[in-house]
Amino acid sequence: MELACLDLEGVLIPEIWIKFAEKTGIEELKATTRDIPCYDELMTMRLGVLAKHNLGLNEIQEVISTLSPLDGAKEFVDWLRERFQVIILSDTFYEFAGPLMKQLGYPTLFCHKLGVDESGKVVDYKIRQPNPKRQSIVAFKSLYYRTIAAGDSYNDTTMLAEADAGILFKSPQNVIDEFPQYPAVHTYEDLKKEFIKASDRNLTL
Ligand SMILES: [Mg+2]
Repeated sequence: MELACLDLEGVLIPEIWIKFAEKTGIEELKATTRDIPCYDELMTMRLGVLAKHNLGLNEIQEVISTLSPLDGAKEFVDWLRERFQVIILSDTFYEFAGPLMKQLGYPTLFCHKLGVDESGKVVDYKIRQPNPKRQSIVAFKSLYYRTIAAGDSYNDTTMLAEADAGILFKSPQNVIDEFPQYPAVHTYEDLKKEFIKASDRNLTL
């Protein structure tokens, strides 16, 4: 049997922190690992900013529920789930992704968790495991699943390398140039075709 493993942000939904920053008008939350390379430092800053603006989990989820998946994402996920077992491997947090996963019909999601106190304040975050996307593929292979993975960015490349087949989707040109071994496509129609090509079954559109 074959598993389809998908990245979430940039593939099915927008970058959540960026959109959240736009919605709330909090500029500091637009920072990414490109601005603050140390992830721990970046997250500590983000949690501090949320606290400063009195944004607890309820307020955060309210804002996020006004966001939508990328155009065509829901239809694509439905198409994929008819042909593969689909698992989303993401570096987001369950609490952040929740409102968007609802709009996608709650596909299976492996990601990280936020620590929230009784008042709803976000006090901590828990990374599921180091190198979680790659390790998930390693685990699926130990269960004798064949894996086809798609993602858009650097945090996906070890997952793509570990999978039986890897696909770049909506990647920036620098990622495409650096990883020429993977097919790179930009529309869901083309992504469907790549999944069909990568499959060892006779699938059709
Ligand atoms: Mg991504």
